[in-house]
Amino acid sequence: MGKALIIGAGGVAGVVVHKCCQNSEVFTEICIASRTKSKCDALKKQVEEKGTKTKVTTAQVDADSVPQLVELINKEKPDIVINVALPYQDLTIMDACLETKTDYVDTANYEHPDTAKFEYKYQWAYREKFEKAGITALLGSGFDPGVTGVFCAYAQKHYFDEINYIDILDCNGGDHGYPFATNFNPEINIREVSAKGSYIEDGKWVETEPMEIKREYDFEQVGKKDMYLLHHEELESLALNIKGIKRIRFFMTFGQSYLTHLKCLENVGMTSIKPIMYEGREIVPLQFLKAVLPDPASLGPRTVGKTNIGCICIGKKDGKEVHYKVYNCCDHQECYKEVGSQAISYTTGVPAMIGAMMVMTGKWKKPGVYNIEEFDPDPFMDALNKWGLPWHETFDPELVD
Ligand code: NDP
Repeated sequence: MGKALIIGAGGVAGVVVHKCCQNSEVFTEICIASRTKSKCDALKKQVEEKGTKTKVTTAQVDADSVPQLVELINKEKPDIVINVALPYQDLTIMDACLETKTDYVDTANYEHPDTAKFEYKYQWAYREKFEKAGITALLGSGFDPGVTGVFCAYAQKHYFDEINYIDILDCNGGDHGYPFATNFNPEINIREVSAKGSYIEDGKWVETEPMEIKREYDFEQVGKKDMYLLHHEELESLALNIKGIKRIRFFMTFGQSYLTHLKCLENVGMTSIKPIMYEGREIVPLQFLKAVLPDPASLGPRTVGKTNIGCICIGKKDGKEVHYKVYNCCDHQECYKEVGSQAISYTTGVPAMIGAMMVMTGKWKKPGVYNIEEFDPDPFMDALNKWGLPWHETFDPELVD
């Protein structure tokens, strides 16, 4: 059918590459391009050794440079660009897609390297330009954001007249055996969890101190875990796109050891994003910390246990109150056996491939810039079952107070 240009060659990109290569009918060709070409070549070797009909090429690119991206896109002529580099590169890649009239998919919203705050306004500002160019940008096609938005759209379409309360619960019951490591890019992960928490109530953001709100929840297939309220990017778009929202919150589980290490690193200044001078050279403490922490892509072989990520929706149908939960459980070791990575990269990479497939096959092709819940959720929900992230639903879930 077509060709995808995959930008980035980290943990998530590895899964996207494997999944596109399993889905050769849609992805007849892929080009993997990243800052470090040797990582792209290593991924190409892995999938070719496993056997695939997809033709795989690689390239070097600095995705902070629009001219380099435009040159690469013009040379490779992909139908779609799958951005699985870092959130810092979202706008340059969108600019290059505009210039070359190429569709765009990402998994995380734009964040400026100097400000640990993510919001959609920078990418939503491209709506008119994408519409005029006749190309589609699908924002946030990972798991959260991503599948969580599709879950909410599915609930809205099939079971509710209005959804008043949404709680998104992200549980990682996996254990990698290290005292401290992050499951995806450490810099992005630590920026996210050390920021203030927030949720939306009655149309307004309510801010909390980091990790101020804690609950315990008994997760299907995982068991009881402590979870903490975090700010998360899909809250912003879901509050606008789902009818009847009164409150929407996001919780993520953390073990005590992770939190103790994080607090200590914060207390000594290692999580700061303000540059400091070190031996005559400017360094950013958090970037230095990233360099000494385990590479998330290396956690695959040692991580055991499961993730459970899903949405609890409370609302009304035909005047009656409905409680609904939809979730996916994913086993770290099963993912490792299939694509050589742990479940966090897997649960992000599979939806990135599916999102690209939705646009490429025309099911979600619509000029403009869209969040994932703005499209028909049904073909995406079917694809989740087919491509490795089967979901479950219940109308009697445990609720969060
Ligand atoms: P990694 O750090 O493992 O990989 C990032 C990749 O991007 C690396 O290969 C890196 O290159 C490359 N890269 C960074 N800067 C540039 C640049 N300027 N030009 C070209 N390539 C560049 O991150 P992950 O794979 O863990 O995460 C990828 C994305 O997925 C992130 O945006 C993250 O926020 C998002 N994510 C989304 C989730 C969701 O559920 N929605 C969950 C988890 C992650 P190099 O190898 O040279 O460093």
